[in-house]
Amino acid sequence: MTSKHVAILGGGLAGLACAYEMAKRGLRVTVIEREPQVGGMASSFEEGDRNSVGHSDSDYWSHDFGPHRFHSNEKELMAHVVEILGDNAVWSKRRSRILMSGRLFDYPLELSNVLRNMPPLRIARMLIDYAWVRVIDTLGLVDYQDRNFKEWVEKRFGRSLADLFFIQYTEKAWGIPATEISAVWASQRITLLSLADTIIKTIFRPRNAPRTLVTDFVYPKLGGIGELSRGYQRRIEELGGTVHIDAPALRVHCEGRRVTQVEYRKDGDSHFIEADEFISTIPITDLARRVVPRAPEKVRQAIKRLGYVSIVFVYLKLDRERVTDDNWVYLPEKELTVHRISEFKNFSASAGPRGKTMLCAEITCRAGDEIWNASGETLEEIAVRDLTTSGFIQPGEVLESFVKRIPFAYPLYDLEYQDHLAPVLEFVHQLENLETGGRQGLFRYNNMDQSIEMGRLMAARMLGETESDHESVATQQRYFG
Ligand SMILES: Cc1cc2nc3c(=O)[nH]c(=O)nc-3n(C[C@H](O)[C@H](O)[C@H](O)COP(=O)(O)OP(=O)(O)OC[C@H]3O[C@@H](n4cnc5c(N)ncnc54)[C@H](O)[C@@H]3O)c2cc1C
Repeated sequence: MTSKHVAILGGGLAGLACAYEMAKRGLRVTVIEREPQVGGMASSFEEGDRNSVGHSDSDYWSHDFGPHRFHSNEKELMAHVVEILGDNAVWSKRRSRILMSGRLFDYPLELSNVLRNMPPLRIARMLIDYAWVRVIDTLGLVDYQDRNFKEWVEKRFGRSLADLFFIQYTEKAWGIPATEISAVWASQRITLLSLADTIIKTIFRPRNAPRTLVTDFVYPKLGGIGELSRGYQRRIEELGGTVHIDAPALRVHCEGRRVTQVEYRKDGDSHFIEADEFISTIPITDLARRVVPRAPEKVRQAIKRLGYVSIVFVYLKLDRERVTDDNWVYLPEKELTVHRISEFKNFSASAGPRGKTMLCAEITCRAGDEIWNASGETLEEIAVRDLTTSGFIQPGEVLESFVKRIPFAYPLYDLEYQDHLAPVLEFVHQLENLETGGRQGLFRYNNMDQSIEMGRLMAARMLGETESDHESVATQQRYFG
């Protein structure tokens, strides 16, 4: 009996995890990936010779698309990821901070750290605001309805704390006012529900607590976060599956409610994959646009209203062992264009040669705007100016810089996104032999663990091993940091 053939669009973590689970159970899988490498947003890039790592003249560097820290509370998922990384796994300290008024605060917020670093008057203001919001909320004097991000955080933290630690950064990173951002985003990303919660956690945190996923995280020792995807690709191919890179899907041909074949480009020619089932992890807007016969006008209009935040990454190689102890530092202040910096050596010490380090400065924008189109020199100037002003580097230390861009970095959760997403999802869902999943496939603010979980669930469901729906992943309140 010939086994079912499944075609998977997109070779990011969701598509690859799905393909791997299917191939392991004997299905024939073909993955098509647009880029020259697998990994999607969790891709990484290397320079120099891996074998030189540890030598004084090493020329080895690795970097990701911004910082990527893998977390999951699911033991089975952690074991799965550690297995995929094999002997190339390292445990690193989890540390991120936020720069406010020239001072660095631990992030997520630590009460003791806030109390130590914040001017007393400001603390008093925050506590009064917090007490006030609790009183008026309890007495029902204000009708807080969580209509937008601003309301959501102000209701839970009080105005001053919310503004300082959440609103400023979010407005900068998203490029729109917090009143125009959906509260869904806050509810999925911020689990610190109240100041009382912080106080309890601070006071009752056990001393000398053992290493946990909260204090440490697993990361590839060599090769950056893309090693996870390369590990999947290797295993899929060993199991007889196919992964085509440099192979963008062009059209999804349908007859009635069934997808019959996917057309893709490879080496300048069009190719077709006929399969029994299709999984898509490419952006849902892109998928719906590529369906033939084309989607109804209502769906096409909805696609146009779904937006994405794009990111420009400016990488700076520096003549210094380390700049920070952090995985990343948030820069919420409006005077700075860069909104976050990360340092890959704090993920794996092997990510750069001895005595040198690399910072990645992120600037959010919209694909096609002034920042997106700016030259490498202009972007380097912006990054160096911001990092010098904020005291992280000296201009003379920069050895080299380069830029990378990703257009579909964050699904834009504006106030109407759910109204526009619904008809697009409905259109895609009516195709009986196609499932869509992953961060792009569902327009969902997934982390890596959630994309992998979705990919594995799509495989398990197709194989009849579970009733669980991958679309329920990443809808609940989860910790991200
Ligand atoms: C700056 C940044 C930092 C992040 N940090 C973290 C972190 O610290 N921890 C964490 O857990 N998560 C983090 N994430 C999120 C994480 O990167 C994603 O959740 C995860 O990589 C998404 O995987 P995916 O497979 O769902 O989507 P993607 O990685 O987007 O995969 C989709 C794939 O489809 C391909 N594709 C698109 N169009 C086509 C086409 N027409 N034909 C064929 N292929 C196509 C793309 O090239 C891509 O490979 C971060 C994301 C960003 C942007």
